[in-house]
Amino acid sequence: MLTEEIERYTARYLMNTYSRVPLSIVRGRGCKVYDSEGREYLDCVAGIAVNVLGHGHPDLMAAIGQQARHLIHTSNLYYSEPQVLLAEMLVQHSFAQKVFFCNSGAEANEAAIKLARRYSTQKFGADRYEIVTMRNSFHGRTMATLTATGQAKIQHGYAPLLPGFKYATFNDVPSLEAQIDEKTAAILLEPIQGEGGVVVANQAYLHHLRKLCTDRHILLIFDEVQTGIGRTGTLFAYEQFGIQPDMMTLAKGLGGGVPIGACLATDEVASAFEPGSHASTFGGNPLACAAALAVLRVLLEGGELEKSRSVGSHLAKGLQELRGRIPLIQEVRGLGLLQGVELSIDGNAIVQDCLARRIIINCTMDRVLRLVPPLIITKAEIDQVLKVLSEVLNKRV
Ligand SMILES: *Cc1c(COP(=O)(O)O)cnc(C)c1O
Repeated sequence: MLTEEIERYTARYLMNTYSRVPLSIVRGRGCKVYDSEGREYLDCVAGIAVNVLGHGHPDLMAAIGQQARHLIHTSNLYYSEPQVLLAEMLVQHSFAQKVFFCNSGAEANEAAIKLARRYSTQKFGADRYEIVTMRNSFHGRTMATLTATGQAKIQHGYAPLLPGFKYATFNDVPSLEAQIDEKTAAILLEPIQGEGGVVVANQAYLHHLRKLCTDRHILLIFDEVQTGIGRTGTLFAYEQFGIQPDMMTLAKGLGGGVPIGACLATDEVASAFEPGSHASTFGGNPLACAAALAVLRVLLEGGELEKSRSVGSHLAKGLQELRGRIPLIQEVRGLGLLQGVELSIDGNAIVQDCLARRIIINCTMDRVLRLVPPLIITKAEIDQVLKVLSEVLNKRV
């Protein structure tokens, strides 16, 4: 089907939940994708920080193909080798000791919210159930996670929200302290607010938070659904701040495009779950786990994470250089290959202009261009993106 025809069918058959860019991607190779008309684009969205190995990575394709031939799905009624190998890999490379698998970021946060409530009420009594989250955060679209998401536009129309959530201002210690009391079970936040406009947590703020949580026996939960799996230059963003959370959620990049989410925790916290406490039919399915295992092996053993670090700083430097000479750019923020460019004008028009020049980027919070390319992007490809961005923005001055 041509793009226009797919657009007509979309309006007719799909619920109207997305405002879409007029593009239908049909295949991809590396950082390049192709539309229904055969046009080539450079992909700096990567399915929103999902396709960490780009498109059609041979190791990922082989792992999926091989697992599909053996077994696509079984149930958590039975033991599964891909699941334990993936959990072992995540534990070996993080603060965590236990993993629960699910299928998305929202579900990973649901698991984290449930575990935090269960642990805290078991340990400190039934009144200890509140979770403090941040304004402008994003944690998902289920009822619990949209309640956790501190954005009115995402909560609108869904009252009554889940009880037991409070909101603080990101990077603001007094605002957080004002929300904490004997009922506080956990603090849930993103080390970099992705959907919220690529806002990076201050190191001092996170250190303060860690100490506060430790002193008051409050759980610190990092939502690394977007920042995890090498996005920021380390496997997890928390590694760069010199602190460790008690729990962490993952999804987006974990399966390299195959849906999988995970909630990680220390042994102490994870012990609050017992058989029957939580479950998921598809969670940790062999196909998804084989894909995620292949992704982690390419990043950690294949050297791609290491390589992505210098590419990430190349992108950051290039964007800062643009900021120096394009007055429309207010600020450039981010870590590694999660970069935001805040403009003084609407960013959606710039996204369209870039698309016309065959570069796919995205915009969040109306004025923040977000670049989250595959981690395998090359410096030459980044230079191409910077060149187009510079031309497109200069035309608007
Ligand atoms: C995307 C995202 C989610 C939600 O993930 P889904 O897979 O869409 O449910 C949660 N938290 C953060 C930080 C995200 O970026």
